[in-house]
Amino acid sequence: MRAIAMWLCAASSLFVLTSAAAAEAVCPPNALGVSRTVEIDATGGPWFGTPHGDKDFLAPGEVVLTFDDGPAPKNTRPILAALEKQCTKATFFMLGEMAAEHPGVVKEIAALGHTIGTHTWSHRNLKRLSEEQARAQIESAFTAVEKAANQPIAPFFRYPYLSESDAAVAYLQSRNVAQFAIDVDAFDWRTRSPQIVIARVMAGLERRGRGIVLLHDIHGSTASAMPQLLLLLKERGFKIVHLRPKAAVHTLAEYQPPTKESAHEAKPRLRWPVRRTGQRLTNR
Ligand SMILES: [Zn+2]
Repeated sequence: MRAIAMWLCAASSLFVLTSAAAAEAVCPPNALGVSRTVEIDATGGPWFGTPHGDKDFLAPGEVVLTFDDGPAPKNTRPILAALEKQCTKATFFMLGEMAAEHPGVVKEIAALGHTIGTHTWSHRNLKRLSEEQARAQIESAFTAVEKAANQPIAPFFRYPYLSESDAAVAYLQSRNVAQFAIDVDAFDWRTRSPQIVIARVMAGLERRGRGIVLLHDIHGSTASAMPQLLLLLKERGFKIVHLRPKAAVHTLAEYQPPTKESAHEAKPRLRWPVRRTGQRLTNR
């Protein structure tokens, strides 16, 4: 009996040592890391971020990194590598059609422990759709992304163009889906320069002192900016907060992703709002 107890003790010490050594090998002591993990209760569809969310949800210096519109393997993978190198976590608000096209990357994001929310099926402005069309955009994205991830996903949602309608807000509240606005905008869709992306994010955070940061994992500028941006966040004392859902989104079987044929028919002639000059108005 005593021998067994000694063996167990020795085995557990070895396990602790091995785990600590492994963690140290993977995460250098000066890594940005995650300072706090917050479990979000999405009951009633609460808002996060400016202007509707609780201003004190984040403490001074705290930052939440979010990436919209992906996944897009070419740029999402380098972003994942940069986050992994700094042992830190982010939230990805995916488009249903992108997730359906790139399920492998969705699974990689899930396996690395990041949080997965959605951003509609095909980036439509919900204000311009009927209530039923808006529901289909919301629900088919949840169904498609959950299927691509091959595991439950978060009841977290961000509106394309940050454009919410009263009907969509009420609907998401009834579905117990948390609604995410933003505090700091990288405007990474406006530039190809990683340095400009970094400068905008840092200026926004220095001004506000904290915040939910909007980035897009479909852009090369963002992918190139991430290693240096994460180093700067660490250097200037910002702390990363990782958001996790208290419970997974409950998908509805009646809302399936559109088939290729119906998606083609439903596709608007212009996917993005366009200025008269032809310049994209926004792709948020
Ligand atoms: Zn977007």
